[in-house]
Amino acid sequence: MDMKSRWKDIQSRIDQACSRSGRDPRGVTVLAVTKNTDNDGIYEAESLGITEMGENRMQQARQRLRAFPHIRWHFIGPLQTNKVRYCRDFVLIHSLDRWKLAQSLQSRAEKWDKTVHVLIQVNPAGEPQKHGLDIREAPEFIEQVVGQYPLLKVDGLMAMAPFVDDPQEVRPLFREVAKLQNRLQSKGYALPVLSMGMTNDYEVAVEEGATLVRIGSALFREEET
Ligand SMILES: *Cc1c(COP(=O)(O)O)cnc(C)c1O
Repeated sequence: MDMKSRWKDIQSRIDQACSRSGRDPRGVTVLAVTKNTDNDGIYEAESLGITEMGENRMQQARQRLRAFPHIRWHFIGPLQTNKVRYCRDFVLIHSLDRWKLAQSLQSRAEKWDKTVHVLIQVNPAGEPQKHGLDIREAPEFIEQVVGQYPLLKVDGLMAMAPFVDDPQEVRPLFREVAKLQNRLQSKGYALPVLSMGMTNDYEVAVEEGATLVRIGSALFREEET
């Protein structure tokens, strides 16, 4: 399969997941994760009409920003405070999960004189090796970020599920994150974005309410046959 067919396949799987769950497919955006592709791969993805892309490592992300300034780049990986100074041109940072990072983003935002859009990363399975806040800690964290850091715009939540053979197994985790979003929305927070689902589990994530799916291998890597 070429990239165009893989892209069509992803779109039709998202459409089907939406019809199973009574959602409008226009409410789901695919973020192409480019960490394992080269510039040609990015050109090809662009030619298919993909405009939102993401990187999880800062060094490569900075090269991408320089080489493809017209693409809407997201930063989706773990973020160290000493790398915050490189974050000005990302449209969304998916990995805010601690106080010190919020502080550092706010003070950069003041220097840049601009609003920085962020997602709060949660760790729904409580995996010790993964980043993200415990779901129980998230409401208070969000409340404080919104209350104290006026230049940080919290657009929603991001989550990663453990890799499992059967993606149905992680459905309860995605549901938990969607419930958290609902709870916070009923308290008056907007939080329209739910970034969850990757190649292995994006259909389940869409059924559970994801608005942004982060897809790398299903788009860029040809299946080994
Ligand atoms: C690599 C990566 C993805 C995409 O993973 P695939 O399984 O290749 O779709 C999504 N989100 C994050 C944070 C990643 O690092």
